[in-house]
Amino acid sequence: LASRTFRPEPTVIKVGDVLIGGDEFVVMAGPCAVESREQLLETAEIVKKCGAKVLRGGAFKPRTSPYSFQGLGEEGLKILAEARERTGLPVVTEVTSTEAVDKVAEYADILQIGARNMQNFQLLRAAGRTGKPVLLKRGMSATIEEWLNAAEYIMNEGNFQVILCERGIRTFEPMTRNTLDLSAVPIIKHISHLPVIVDPSHGTGHWRWVTPMSRAALAAGADGLIIEVHPNPQEAMSDGPQSLKPENFRLLCEELKKIAPIV
Ligand code: PEP
Ligand code: MN
Repeated sequence: LASRTFRPEPTVIKVGDVLIGGDEFVVMAGPCAVESREQLLETAEIVKKCGAKVLRGGAFKPRTSPYSFQGLGEEGLKILAEARERTGLPVVTEVTSTEAVDKVAEYADILQIGARNMQNFQLLRAAGRTGKPVLLKRGMSATIEEWLNAAEYIMNEGNFQVILCERGIRTFEPMTRNTLDLSAVPIIKHISHLPVIVDPSHGTGHWRWVTPMSRAALAAGADGLIIEVHPNPQEAMSDGPQSLKPENFRLLCEELKKIAPIV
């Protein structure tokens, strides 16, 4: 279902007024995690002003350690919904369990399936059944074929609104958190009709590499980006080191606007 032979024309996904997979390059941005109402509303206003078209923020966080901040849960979803009302930005947020799918789908415009759950087939099916657009991250050790098969699970439920997201894979290189596999972008574009976006925040793990890899993602033919932005990265409860400060995010958007139409 995901292949170009099945459907030759590119899939364009409409989320509110935003088209993903069309002619425009869509920037999604926001904090790794929703930490408080103030933090999220402030970040939402900032990213909107810079040109982001979708707001990100995790309410259910899949943390490597059980002792790390796990997210605000439903309270976080409510804050995301309030930010959408105030800014008009549609919201993408992660769902980490099958039981939470319906709850998250009540609030979110796009359901995010994280790298750690890329092969949680029950979760993929349940997300597919909501009929909502699904942002499917590449598993950290997944081949492109495995990733596309994960998309098949969602599409098999009759839901073709799948956005693929390259977020870096595990390699032997310790200077970055992951190795951002930008070659996946033209490969996916060649073999699939689905839109592909790039997450240079998780892909590199360091804010300094986010801007150059964003440019590279655009040059490689990605349909957009998802970027972590925090008003005060030093105080972030998750992924501070890879989060852009508002000013750096603004500069990144200015740069991108010179190269491509950002919706
Ligand atoms: C995230 O988007 O904050 C996240 C946890 O991403 P990933 O699943 O790619 O690690
Ligand atoms: Mn994160």
